[in-house]
Amino acid sequence: MALRFALVIEPAASDDPRPSFADSFRVIDPSAPALSVGELSTQRGDGIFESIGVVDGHVQETQAHLERLAHSARICDLPGPNLEQWRQAIGVAARHAPATGEGVIKLILSRGVEHGPAPTAWVTVAPAPDNSAAREHGIRVVTLDRGYGIDTPARAPWLLLGAKTLSYAVNMAAIREAKRRGADDAIFVTSDGFVLEAPTASLILRIGGRFVTPAPHGGILHGTTQLSLFAHLEEQGHETGYEVVPTGALREADAAWLVSSVRLAAPITAIDGVEMPVDAELTASFNRYLLSARD
Ligand code: PLP
Repeated sequence: MALRFALVIEPAASDDPRPSFADSFRVIDPSAPALSVGELSTQRGDGIFESIGVVDGHVQETQAHLERLAHSARICDLPGPNLEQWRQAIGVAARHAPATGEGVIKLILSRGVEHGPAPTAWVTVAPAPDNSAAREHGIRVVTLDRGYGIDTPARAPWLLLGAKTLSYAVNMAAIREAKRRGADDAIFVTSDGFVLEAPTASLILRIGGRFVTPAPHGGILHGTTQLSLFAHLEEQGHETGYEVVPTGALREADAAWLVSSVRLAAPITAIDGVEMPVDAELTASFNRYLLSARD
């Protein structure tokens, strides 16, 4: 979707206490060239990002996204973002999001220009793609080997697993492979047989009446949508849990969803060609909740 608005941020130190960061924002033409060719985000994918849903002008779960941006920055040894500065930038961006319907605000923090003095940061706004078919009719998924074991994130922190980095080429390749195999999307699994996440979404399984998601210490992102949905389910008296999920548990689930900030909840209709029951009513209630204003 074409960008509607873009804002470059001059990143402030994380403890900069100034009340207004308006002077550190520069509105740019989103269709014109803006980045230096020396940018490490484009040369190496060296940076982090967040995609935030906007519904009827309301920015969803700002705090959870800012916390994950800070978490990703820590993992990647990037200077800690000034969360108040980013919050104000999101506020400016939100004024350019669609007033009705769904939009996406993207936050990007790059290591900057090679040998440059500071990181580069910017925010964009675009209308959201139409996800209604996936939400209503569901998606077929295949499991794909992520190529590492469940203990790899702890043994090899330099792989940056758990950070939302700009290096999504592998994630996009996995979706292409899923399509080659006749599915819509993928679920990554470890080489030693544990379930991780989808290339751009978290996985939620319903097993024996409980809602389960793979524990984020296994090198996956802690999804803001999953977090929000679990809080909602708990309020309604449901049991939820973070678990180390063996791939065999995919067969035990009587419902499953991929969830993310822009797609919201897409029910899974088949895993590796095996049909999966869909709870249409519950899925609709998930999406009603996810489309309500959430903070
Ligand atoms: N896991 C990965 C790899 C993702 O890219 C995303 C979102 O893009 C998610 C999980 C879900 O995160 P969120 O619910 O915060 O959008």
